[in-house]
Amino acid sequence: HNCLEVRNLVVEFPNRHGTLRALDDVSLSIRPGEILGVVGESGAGKSMTGLAIQGLLERPGRIASGEVWLEGRRIDGLSDRQMEKIRGKEIGAIFQDPLTSLNPLFSVGAQLVETIRQHMPELGKAAARGRAIALLKEVGIPAPEERVDHFPHQFSGGMRQRVVIALALAVNPRLIIADEPTTALDVSIQAQITGLLRRLCKEHGTAVMLVTHDMGVIAETADRVAVMYAGRLIEIGPVETVLKSP
Ligand code: ADP
Ligand code: ADP
Repeated sequence: HNCLEVRNLVVEFPNRHGTLRALDDVSLSIRPGEILGVVGESGAGKSMTGLAIQGLLERPGRIASGEVWLEGRRIDGLSDRQMEKIRGKEIGAIFQDPLTSLNPLFSVGAQLVETIRQHMPELGKAAARGRAIALLKEVGIPAPEERVDHFPHQFSGGMRQRVVIALALAVNPRLIIADEPTTALDVSIQAQITGLLRRLCKEHGTAVMLVTHDMGVIAETADRVAVMYAGRLIEIGPVETVLKSP
């Protein structure tokens, strides 16, 4: 079965001169444990596809249609409140800048504990802290028992992105949307982060939509790749096939 299924997504911006079609009939699916890379030049519609899946597209001045199914349940058109719950529990998000996902005023442990306890209210504080430390360990933070009390600014960029991945995993989501997760990182650590993402999604059976403009990241990380151009999905298939085609 598919974890995610997107059908006939269309997004339009009406303006004085007519209508700009930002997404033009985009359909795709991702199976559990599968990483779908989404590539395309700037403006191709990659981010907008991710936003549509998360129900973050509805704004005045744009028209969206199509269907989004998560684990066999239709989730487009839900209320903001219902969608917020789904984003908190079933869809994790990782963005280019880890600091957008972290609160500078709280230790990483406090943020993990807060997320863990929202997801599992029955857990006591000590147990939630234990789980926070285990998550930091799982994403490769050295000395997690000490680092759990550190604040976001005390981590390097790569370590911060590891913390963000731990936060995304804290609720055991079915789907992770990673939008340019390595773009802001040193080239030397990009492969560590994509390798981590790949290992974790395979272990947990999490579906990943990996948005990037970097073909190298796709070649190393994705199982299948979708190529977008001017709002359309022009090709989708196994990485070996798509990256070789002219
Ligand atoms: P990508 O992530 O591939 O760089 P986006 O999904 O951000 O592309 O953008 C897709 C298209 O939507 C672009 O052509 C962009 O210009 C257009 N777009 C985004 N926001 C608006 C807006 N508020 N009004 C009009 N067009 C927009
Ligand atoms: P308490 O010890 O009273 O249970 P905390 O000291 O953990 O609470 O947090 C104090 C307040 O800050 C609480 O209202 C809690 O919801 C909020 N809080 C804790 N962590 C975060 C966070 N990462 N982001 C936003 N609010 C938080």
